[in-house]
Amino acid sequence: MAIEQVLHMNGGDGDASYANNSSFQRNVMLTTKHILEDSIIRLYCATFPSCLKVADLGCSSGPNALMVASNIINTVDAVSQNLNLEQPVFQFFLNDLFGNDFNTTFKSLPDFYKRLQQEKGHKFGPCFFSGTPGSFYGRLFPNDSVHFFHSSYSLHWLSKTPDELTVVAEPLNKGAIYLTKTSPPAVHKAYFAQFREDFKLFLGSRSCELLPGGAMVITLIGRDENNELINAWVVIGMVLNDMASENLIEKAKLDAFNIPSYCPTAEEIRQVIEEEGSFDIQRLETIRTDWIKNINVSDDIDEDTRAEAVAKYIRAVAESILKSEFGEAIMDELFRRFKNKIVKLHGVEKLELANLVMHITKST
Ligand code: SAH
Repeated sequence: MAIEQVLHMNGGDGDASYANNSSFQRNVMLTTKHILEDSIIRLYCATFPSCLKVADLGCSSGPNALMVASNIINTVDAVSQNLNLEQPVFQFFLNDLFGNDFNTTFKSLPDFYKRLQQEKGHKFGPCFFSGTPGSFYGRLFPNDSVHFFHSSYSLHWLSKTPDELTVVAEPLNKGAIYLTKTSPPAVHKAYFAQFREDFKLFLGSRSCELLPGGAMVITLIGRDENNELINAWVVIGMVLNDMASENLIEKAKLDAFNIPSYCPTAEEIRQVIEEEGSFDIQRLETIRTDWIKNINVSDDIDEDTRAEAVAKYIRAVAESILKSEFGEAIMDELFRRFKNKIVKLHGVEKLELANLVMHITKST
Protein backbone atom coordinates (compact mmCIF):
# COMPACT_ATOMS: atom_id res chain seq x y z
CA MET A 1 0.00 0.00 0.00
CA ALA A 2 1.59 3.28 -1.13
CA ILE A 3 0.68 5.91 1.40
CA GLU A 4 0.21 8.82 -0.99
CA GLN A 5 -2.91 7.29 -2.49
CA VAL A 6 -4.76 6.64 0.74
CA LEU A 7 -3.56 8.71 3.67
CA HIS A 8 -5.06 12.00 4.74
CA MET A 9 -6.18 13.25 8.11
CA ASN A 10 -9.91 14.03 8.23
CA GLY A 11 -10.24 17.43 6.56
CA GLY A 12 -12.45 20.49 7.17
CA ASP A 13 -13.31 21.94 10.56
CA GLY A 14 -16.31 19.81 11.50
CA ASP A 15 -16.86 17.50 14.46
CA ALA A 16 -14.85 14.59 13.00
CA SER A 17 -12.03 16.73 11.53
CA TYR A 18 -8.36 16.57 12.42
CA ALA A 19 -8.56 20.34 13.02
CA ASN A 20 -10.95 19.68 15.91
CA ASN A 21 -9.42 16.44 17.13
CA SER A 22 -5.71 17.08 17.42
CA SER A 23 -5.25 18.40 20.95
CA PHE A 24 -3.11 15.34 21.73
CA GLN A 25 -0.65 16.19 18.94
CA ARG A 26 -0.80 19.84 20.03
CA ASN A 27 0.13 18.87 23.58
CA VAL A 28 3.07 16.85 22.28
CA MET A 29 4.28 19.96 20.42
CA LEU A 30 3.97 21.96 23.64
CA THR A 31 6.02 19.33 25.48
CA THR A 32 8.83 19.57 22.92
CA LYS A 33 8.60 23.35 22.42
CA HIS A 34 11.74 24.09 24.44
CA ILE A 35 13.80 21.97 22.03
CA LEU A 36 12.38 23.84 19.02
CA GLU A 37 13.11 27.18 20.70
CA ASP A 38 16.65 26.25 21.65
CA SER A 39 17.50 25.04 18.13
CA ILE A 40 15.98 28.12 16.43
CA ILE A 41 17.91 30.47 18.72
CA ARG A 42 21.17 28.67 17.89
CA LEU A 43 20.45 28.73 14.17
CA TYR A 44 19.31 32.35 14.07
CA CYS A 45 22.20 33.66 16.15
CA ALA A 46 24.77 31.79 14.03
CA THR A 47 23.85 33.60 10.80
CA PHE A 48 21.22 36.34 11.44
CA PRO A 49 19.52 35.78 8.05
CA SER A 50 17.46 38.69 6.70
CA CYS A 51 14.82 36.18 5.55
CA LEU A 52 14.36 33.06 7.69
CA LYS A 53 13.07 30.13 5.59
CA VAL A 54 11.34 27.36 7.49
CA ALA A 55 9.36 24.32 6.35
CA ASP A 56 6.95 22.27 8.43
CA LEU A 57 6.79 18.74 7.00
CA GLY A 58 3.55 16.80 7.47
CA CYS A 59 1.69 19.89 8.71
CA SER A 60 -1.83 18.41 8.25
CA SER A 61 -4.66 20.92 8.61
CA GLY A 62 -6.09 23.10 11.35
CA PRO A 63 -4.50 25.02 14.23
CA ASN A 64 -1.45 22.77 14.70
CA ALA A 65 -0.24 23.63 11.18
CA LEU A 66 0.37 27.26 12.22
CA MET A 67 1.62 26.55 15.72
CA VAL A 68 5.21 25.95 14.64
CA ALA A 69 5.26 29.25 12.73
CA SER A 70 3.85 31.04 15.73
CA ASN A 71 6.45 29.52 18.11
CA ILE A 72 9.30 30.38 15.78
CA ILE A 73 8.14 33.98 15.23
CA ASN A 74 7.82 34.51 18.99
CA THR A 75 11.25 33.02 19.70
CA VAL A 76 13.03 35.05 17.01
CA ASP A 77 11.12 38.18 18.04
CA ALA A 78 12.32 37.84 21.64
CA VAL A 79 15.96 37.31 20.56
CA SER A 80 15.84 40.24 18.12
CA GLN A 81 14.47 42.54 20.82
CA ASN A 82 17.12 41.45 23.31
CA LEU A 83 19.87 42.15 20.80
CA ASN A 84 18.23 45.30 19.48
CA LEU A 85 18.04 43.90 15.97
CA GLU A 86 15.38 44.26 13.33
CA GLN A 87 13.10 41.24 12.90
CA PRO A 88 13.88 39.13 9.84
CA VAL A 89 11.30 38.41 7.16
CA PHE A 90 9.77 34.95 7.66
CA GLN A 91 8.96 32.53 4.90
CA PHE A 92 7.06 29.40 5.93
CA PHE A 93 6.42 26.42 3.71
CA LEU A 94 3.63 24.09 4.76
CA ASN A 95 4.14 20.58 3.41
CA ASP A 96 1.91 17.54 3.40
CA LEU A 97 0.71 14.86 0.98
CA PHE A 98 -1.38 15.87 -2.06
CA GLY A 99 -4.68 14.78 -0.46
CA ASN A 100 -4.19 17.05 2.59
CA ASP A 101 -6.76 19.75 3.29
CA PHE A 102 -4.45 22.78 2.96
CA ASN A 103 -7.44 25.08 2.44
CA THR A 104 -8.66 24.90 6.03
CA THR A 105 -5.25 26.18 7.15
CA PHE A 106 -5.02 28.85 4.47
CA LYS A 107 -8.47 30.14 5.41
CA SER A 108 -7.29 30.70 8.97
CA LEU A 109 -4.33 32.87 7.84
CA PRO A 110 -6.15 36.24 7.95
CA ASP A 111 -6.94 35.66 11.66
CA PHE A 112 -3.39 34.49 12.25
CA TYR A 113 -1.96 37.67 10.66
CA LYS A 114 -4.42 39.84 12.60
CA ARG A 115 -3.36 38.23 15.90
CA LEU A 116 0.32 38.73 15.08
CA GLN A 117 -0.27 42.36 14.24
CA GLN A 118 -2.13 42.90 17.52
CA GLU A 119 0.55 41.13 19.56
CA LYS A 120 3.61 42.53 17.83
CA GLY A 121 2.46 45.88 16.53
CA HIS A 122 3.95 47.65 13.54
CA LYS A 123 7.49 46.44 14.31
CA PHE A 124 6.55 43.03 13.08
CA GLY A 125 8.34 41.97 9.86
CA PRO A 126 6.46 40.46 6.89
CA CYS A 127 5.62 36.79 7.06
CA PHE A 128 4.83 34.73 3.96
CA PHE A 129 3.17 31.31 3.77
CA SER A 130 3.04 28.85 0.91
CA GLY A 131 1.91 25.28 0.48
CA THR A 132 4.36 22.62 -0.70
CA PRO A 133 2.37 19.49 -1.51
CA GLY A 134 4.27 16.23 -2.02
CA SER A 135 5.93 13.38 -0.17
CA PHE A 136 8.83 14.23 2.11
CA TYR A 137 10.34 10.92 0.98
CA GLY A 138 11.89 12.73 -1.96
CA ARG A 139 12.84 16.27 -2.96
CA LEU A 140 10.50 19.15 -2.11
CA PHE A 141 12.75 22.23 -2.44
CA PRO A 142 15.71 23.47 -4.55
CA ASN A 143 19.28 22.92 -3.33
CA ASP A 144 20.46 25.15 -0.47
CA SER A 145 17.17 26.96 -0.01
CA VAL A 146 15.83 26.27 3.51
CA HIS A 147 17.28 27.17 6.93
CA PHE A 148 15.20 24.96 9.14
CA PHE A 149 12.91 21.93 8.88
CA HIS A 150 10.39 20.97 11.48
CA SER A 151 8.24 17.85 11.56
CA SER A 152 5.96 16.60 14.31
CA TYR A 153 4.09 13.30 14.38
CA SER A 154 4.61 12.55 10.69
CA LEU A 155 7.79 10.55 10.22
CA HIS A 156 6.45 7.36 11.78
CA TRP A 157 4.40 7.09 8.57
CA LEU A 158 6.31 5.00 6.04
CA SER A 159 6.16 5.54 2.27
CA LYS A 160 4.40 2.17 1.95
CA THR A 161 3.72 -1.10 3.73
CA PRO A 162 6.91 -3.21 3.54
CA ASP A 163 6.75 -5.57 0.51
CA GLU A 164 7.36 -8.68 2.63
CA LEU A 165 4.16 -7.99 4.57
CA THR A 166 1.94 -7.66 1.51
CA VAL A 167 2.36 -11.24 0.22
CA VAL A 168 -1.24 -12.37 0.61
CA ALA A 169 -0.51 -16.08 0.13
CA GLU A 170 1.74 -16.13 3.20
CA PRO A 171 0.81 -13.39 5.68
CA LEU A 172 3.59 -12.93 8.24
CA ASN A 173 1.67 -10.86 10.76
CA LYS A 174 -1.57 -12.79 11.13
CA GLY A 175 -4.25 -11.27 13.34
CA ALA A 176 -2.41 -7.95 13.79
CA ILE A 177 -2.12 -4.81 11.71
CA TYR A 178 1.09 -3.53 13.28
CA LEU A 179 4.14 -4.78 15.14
CA THR A 180 2.93 -6.33 18.40
CA LYS A 181 4.59 -8.25 21.23
CA THR A 182 3.65 -11.50 19.51
CA SER A 183 4.65 -10.62 15.93
CA PRO A 184 7.42 -12.91 14.59
CA PRO A 185 10.92 -11.36 14.24
CA ALA A 186 10.52 -11.25 10.42
CA VAL A 187 7.79 -8.62 10.88
CA HIS A 188 10.10 -6.35 12.86
CA LYS A 189 12.85 -6.93 10.28
CA ALA A 190 10.57 -5.96 7.38
CA TYR A 191 9.24 -2.84 9.12
CA PHE A 192 12.67 -1.65 10.20
CA ALA A 193 14.14 -2.23 6.71
CA GLN A 194 11.40 -0.05 5.20
CA PHE A 195 11.89 2.63 7.86
CA ARG A 196 15.65 2.64 7.27
CA GLU A 197 15.21 3.05 3.49
CA ASP A 198 12.59 5.80 3.87
CA PHE A 199 14.33 7.73 6.62
CA LYS A 200 17.63 7.69 4.70
CA LEU A 201 15.85 9.10 1.65
CA PHE A 202 14.30 11.76 3.88
CA LEU A 203 17.65 12.73 5.42
CA GLY A 204 19.45 12.78 2.06
CA SER A 205 16.76 14.98 0.49
CA ARG A 206 16.72 17.45 3.40
CA SER A 207 20.50 17.68 3.50
CA CYS A 208 20.52 18.82 -0.18
CA GLU A 209 17.79 21.38 0.52
CA LEU A 210 19.25 22.84 3.71
CA LEU A 211 21.50 25.87 3.60
CA PRO A 212 24.92 25.47 5.30
CA GLY A 213 24.38 25.56 9.06
CA GLY A 214 20.79 24.34 8.60
CA ALA A 215 18.99 22.24 11.19
CA MET A 216 15.92 20.08 11.83
CA VAL A 217 13.75 19.31 14.82
CA ILE A 218 11.75 16.11 14.40
CA THR A 219 9.28 14.47 16.75
CA LEU A 220 7.81 11.07 15.96
CA ILE A 221 6.20 8.20 17.78
CA GLY A 222 8.87 5.75 18.84
CA ARG A 223 8.97 2.44 20.66
CA ASP A 224 10.60 1.48 23.92
CA GLU A 225 13.27 -1.20 23.85
CA ASN A 226 11.19 -3.96 25.42
CA ASN A 227 8.03 -3.19 23.44
CA GLU A 228 5.84 -2.96 26.54
CA LEU A 229 3.88 0.15 25.48
CA ILE A 230 0.67 -0.27 23.54
CA ASN A 231 -0.17 2.24 20.82
CA ALA A 232 -3.49 2.81 19.05
CA TRP A 233 -2.66 0.52 16.09
CA VAL A 234 -2.25 -2.42 18.46
CA VAL A 235 -5.68 -1.72 19.98
CA ILE A 236 -7.29 -1.27 16.54
CA GLY A 237 -5.74 -4.65 15.61
CA MET A 238 -7.39 -6.25 18.67
CA VAL A 239 -10.77 -4.78 17.67
CA LEU A 240 -10.43 -5.94 14.06
CA ASN A 241 -9.58 -9.41 15.35
CA ASP A 242 -12.79 -9.50 17.39
CA MET A 243 -14.73 -8.32 14.35
CA ALA A 244 -13.13 -11.00 12.15
CA SER A 245 -14.10 -13.71 14.61
CA GLU A 246 -17.71 -12.49 14.38
CA ASN A 247 -17.46 -12.46 10.56
CA LEU A 248 -17.96 -8.70 10.40
CA ILE A 249 -14.76 -8.43 8.34
CA GLU A 250 -12.86 -11.06 6.35
CA LYS A 251 -10.18 -12.82 8.41
CA ALA A 252 -7.94 -13.15 5.32
CA LYS A 253 -8.13 -9.41 4.74
CA LEU A 254 -7.08 -8.69 8.31
CA ASP A 255 -4.19 -11.20 8.14
CA ALA A 256 -2.84 -9.57 4.98
CA PHE A 257 -3.25 -5.95 6.10
CA ASN A 258 -0.44 -4.05 7.84
CA ILE A 259 -0.40 -0.39 8.56
CA PRO A 260 2.35 1.58 6.74
CA SER A 261 3.71 3.03 9.94
CA TYR A 262 6.73 2.17 12.07
CA CYS A 263 7.75 3.45 15.47
CA PRO A 264 11.53 3.10 15.84
CA THR A 265 13.53 2.94 19.05
CA ALA A 266 15.97 5.76 19.84
CA GLU A 267 18.85 3.40 19.06
CA GLU A 268 17.43 2.55 15.62
CA ILE A 269 17.09 6.29 14.84
CA ARG A 270 20.66 6.92 15.92
CA GLN A 271 21.88 4.02 13.79
CA VAL A 272 20.12 5.25 10.62
CA ILE A 273 21.26 8.88 11.08
CA GLU A 274 24.86 7.70 11.53
CA GLU A 275 24.69 5.33 8.55
CA GLU A 276 23.27 8.05 6.29
CA GLY A 277 25.96 10.48 7.40
CA SER A 278 24.60 13.93 6.43
CA PHE A 279 23.58 15.05 9.94
CA ASP A 280 25.05 15.39 13.42
CA ILE A 281 22.83 14.57 16.37
CA GLN A 282 22.70 17.46 18.85
CA ARG A 283 19.91 16.03 20.93
CA LEU A 284 17.83 12.83 20.91
CA GLU A 285 15.34 12.36 23.72
CA THR A 286 12.49 10.05 24.60
CA ILE A 287 9.38 11.55 26.19
CA ARG A 288 6.64 9.18 27.29
CA THR A 289 3.02 10.28 27.10
CA ASP A 290 -0.20 8.56 28.08
CA TRP A 291 -2.35 8.73 24.95
CA ILE A 292 -5.57 8.49 26.94
CA LYS A 293 -4.86 11.24 29.48
CA ASN A 294 -3.02 13.75 27.35
CA ILE A 295 -5.98 15.35 25.57
CA ASN A 296 -7.75 18.62 26.25
CA VAL A 297 -10.89 17.52 28.06
CA SER A 298 -11.87 18.48 31.57
CA ASP A 299 -10.35 16.36 34.34
CA ASP A 300 -13.62 15.42 35.98
CA ILE A 301 -15.25 13.60 33.04
CA ASP A 302 -15.89 9.87 33.38
CA GLU A 303 -13.75 7.21 31.69
CA ASP A 304 -16.39 6.53 29.08
CA THR A 305 -16.59 10.15 27.86
CA ARG A 306 -12.82 10.41 27.83
CA ALA A 307 -12.54 7.19 25.81
CA GLU A 308 -15.11 8.62 23.38
CA ALA A 309 -12.90 11.69 22.85
CA VAL A 310 -9.82 9.48 22.38
CA ALA A 311 -11.69 7.38 19.80
CA LYS A 312 -12.54 10.58 17.92
CA TYR A 313 -8.97 11.80 17.69
CA ILE A 314 -7.66 8.40 16.65
CA ARG A 315 -10.44 8.21 14.05
CA ALA A 316 -9.47 11.62 12.59
CA VAL A 317 -6.02 10.12 11.89
CA ALA A 318 -6.77 6.49 11.06
CA GLU A 319 -10.07 6.57 9.21
CA SER A 320 -8.83 7.25 5.66
CA ILE A 321 -6.49 4.30 5.71
CA LEU A 322 -8.83 1.84 7.44
CA LYS A 323 -11.71 2.84 5.17
CA SER A 324 -9.69 2.14 2.05
CA GLU A 325 -9.01 -1.38 3.31
CA PHE A 326 -12.15 -2.47 5.18
CA GLY A 327 -14.83 -0.19 3.73
CA GLU A 328 -16.76 2.76 5.12
CA ALA A 329 -19.68 0.66 6.38
CA ILE A 330 -17.82 -0.75 9.42
CA MET A 331 -16.17 2.48 10.60
CA ASP A 332 -18.81 3.47 13.20
CA GLU A 333 -18.83 -0.03 14.68
CA LEU A 334 -15.04 -0.27 14.66
CA PHE A 335 -14.58 2.97 16.60
CA ARG A 336 -17.45 2.18 18.99
CA ARG A 337 -15.66 -1.06 19.88
CA PHE A 338 -12.32 0.76 20.00
CA LYS A 339 -13.75 3.11 22.62
CA ASN A 340 -15.00 0.17 24.72
CA LYS A 341 -11.66 -1.61 24.39
CA ILE A 342 -9.85 1.46 25.71
CA VAL A 343 -12.11 1.63 28.75
CA LYS A 344 -11.22 -2.02 29.47
CA LEU A 345 -7.48 -1.70 28.87
CA HIS A 346 -6.78 1.65 30.50
CA GLY A 347 -5.14 1.17 33.87
CA VAL A 348 -4.42 -2.49 33.06
CA GLU A 349 -2.05 -2.13 30.11
CA LYS A 350 0.44 0.68 29.41
CA LEU A 351 -1.44 2.79 26.87
CA GLU A 352 1.51 5.10 26.40
CA LEU A 353 3.71 6.35 23.60
CA ALA A 354 7.46 6.84 23.62
CA ASN A 355 7.84 10.06 21.65
CA LEU A 356 11.26 10.58 20.14
CA VAL A 357 12.40 14.14 19.65
CA MET A 358 15.64 15.09 17.98
CA HIS A 359 17.58 18.19 17.01
CA ILE A 360 20.00 17.42 14.19
CA THR A 361 22.24 19.73 12.19
CA LYS A 362 23.62 19.47 8.67
CA SER A 363 27.18 18.14 8.85
CA THR A 364 29.89 20.43 7.59
N1 SAH B 1 2.26 18.00 12.32
C1 SAH B 1 0.84 17.91 12.57
C2 SAH B 1 0.18 16.78 11.83
C3 SAH B 1 0.57 15.40 12.20
S1 SAH B 1 -0.44 14.20 11.39
C4 SAH B 1 0.59 17.80 14.06
O1 SAH B 1 1.53 17.53 14.81
O2 SAH B 1 -0.57 17.94 14.47
C5 SAH B 1 0.72 13.47 10.26
C6 SAH B 1 0.74 14.16 8.92
O3 SAH B 1 1.85 13.64 8.17
C7 SAH B 1 -0.51 13.86 8.08
O4 SAH B 1 -1.15 15.04 7.71
C8 SAH B 1 0.03 13.08 6.91
O5 SAH B 1 -0.67 13.31 5.71
C9 SAH B 1 1.46 13.57 6.83
N2 SAH B 1 2.37 12.67 6.09
C10 SAH B 1 2.53 11.34 6.23
N3 SAH B 1 3.42 10.87 5.35
C11 SAH B 1 3.85 11.93 4.62
C12 SAH B 1 4.78 12.08 3.56
N4 SAH B 1 5.44 11.04 3.06
N5 SAH B 1 5.00 13.31 3.06
C13 SAH B 1 4.34 14.41 3.56
N6 SAH B 1 3.44 14.33 4.58
C14 SAH B 1 3.19 13.10 5.10
